Amino acid sequence: MKINLNFITLISILFMSCRTQTNKIEIDETRSNLAADKSDEKKLSEIVNSEIKQKTIIDDTLKYNINEKYLKVNKYQKRFKDEKVTAIVFHYTALPFKKSLKHLTEGGHGAHWFIPAHSKTIYSLADENKRVPHSGESEWKSRQNINVISIGVEIENLGFKCKIRKVNCPQENMQWIPYSETQQKLIISLSKDILNRHKIDPLCIVGHSDIALDRKFDPGPLFPWKRLYENGIGGWVTESEIQTEIANINKYIQGNVSRIVVQSRLYELGYNIEHARNKNKNPKNNSNLSVEKRLLMRGYNLRETEFSDLSALNKLNKFGNNYIKNFIFDENKTNSAIDAFTMHYVPQAYLHNEILENKKILAVIQALLVKYPNRAKKGCSY
Ligand SMILES: [Zn+2]
Repeated sequence: MKINLNFITLISILFMSCRTQTNKIEIDETRSNLAADKSDEKKLSEIVNSEIKQKTIIDDTLKYNINEKYLKVNKYQKRFKDEKVTAIVFHYTALPFKKSLKHLTEGGHGAHWFIPAHSKTIYSLADENKRVPHSGESEWKSRQNINVISIGVEIENLGFKCKIRKVNCPQENMQWIPYSETQQKLIISLSKDILNRHKIDPLCIVGHSDIALDRKFDPGPLFPWKRLYENGIGGWVTESEIQTEIANINKYIQGNVSRIVVQSRLYELGYNIEHARNKNKNPKNNSNLSVEKRLLMRGYNLRETEFSDLSALNKLNKFGNNYIKNFIFDENKTNSAIDAFTMHYVPQAYLHNEILENKKILAVIQALLVKYPNRAKKGCSY
């Protein structure tokens, strides 16, 4: 019986993989023993030599290589006709280079692309027209199993270290590992390349944390979302665009914004915060009832201010879907969604442990929805 944690086990806890819930201990014996297995290194180099097919790309700012079919992911599946690529999911591996490659190619998980931390080589692990298991249980814009419609990009990055302890690290003690300059350029270059091949809505370029609430932190608050946006990749709003929306909101909502309003818009943006109680109910059955009656039937007994905030939301912008008519939202999932949203769109606030006011969250979402009006519909489809 092993009761004491040995050195390798401690290291494996430090390198908590994006496969696992990243703030809980889950030790993968196979992985933790990897470092000791010298034959792995030999095996890896043999495969490299036999399968490598390299091409060199010269970008505006960078010269780099793509190693095609470096190692094939053996668990990929065909995409069906209605499973066009309409999303990109970014991950960090939470493992160093060799372990990352081993994990992505021989474990139950995979990726289409892998970007190392310390070289100018991108690894193509599987054809983009194949479905690869990179995100696990996931949901975005009311569509489950995002693997089916997405390209998975894994990036070598150790995630975070905890300043005080290794298990259930409090947010304020997470020390995030930066992405290197070269790595950021590779991410941008690869993303541009992917967008040349597939029509993908900016709001469907997401992090694993966006689509797997409660389970994932990757790619973390240091992922260069803003820089990607400046290079034409993904959605982002500037401070002045946010301030414009705050001024609009102030015309209709005095003081604080109700949580239910934020939930309604988080759901509209794509976050899966639907309460499990909704699953067996068909909202269409109630379509002739007033909004108030429907809300009551769904378990809401709203205070006057909450109801007037919802009415104001309708006046503010009509985005085609008024989810609040038919949904009950889950409070825990909402908290996770706000964390994921903050890491993605307001990362400085996340890094400084700043708690965003509902009005600010609403303003950022409103600004995004206004800025990308032709956004993809359910499950990122067009
Ligand atoms: Zn991930």
